[in-house]
Amino acid sequence: MARIGLVAHDDKKDELAAWALANREALSRHTIFATGTTGGRVMAETGLALTRLKSGPLGGDAQLGAMIVEGQLDALVFFIDPLTAQPHDVDIKALIRLATLYDTLFAINRPTADAVLAAI
Ligand code: PGA
Repeated sequence: MARIGLVAHDDKKDELAAWALANREALSRHTIFATGTTGGRVMAETGLALTRLKSGPLGGDAQLGAMIVEGQLDALVFFIDPLTAQPHDVDIKALIRLATLYDTLFAINRPTADAVLAAI
């Protein structure tokens, strides 16, 4: 059982929710954490139990970053929208930096999310 963080920017939420639904069975064997809005979408569409953190712009990305630092997260699935400016860009960069620094399993799209799920 792994601890997995889920985050998707607004234009990527459909994609993450579809991925979570397609992998509902596998995800149900893990402990899921998600930023607020992403977590709400995933819960509504998959029925998976998960812990909802703050919404990303209100500190949810920072919470996931802190979890990585504390050794409380094994993998991160973060679907980033590369075409839209985000108000919390610094938090996003910090999360990516910490995931890199701590050698966290880190998926940025469906193919890598599938690979991460297969690896844990
Ligand atoms: P959200 O946060 O799931 O609350 O929308 C994601 C983000 O924008 O970082």
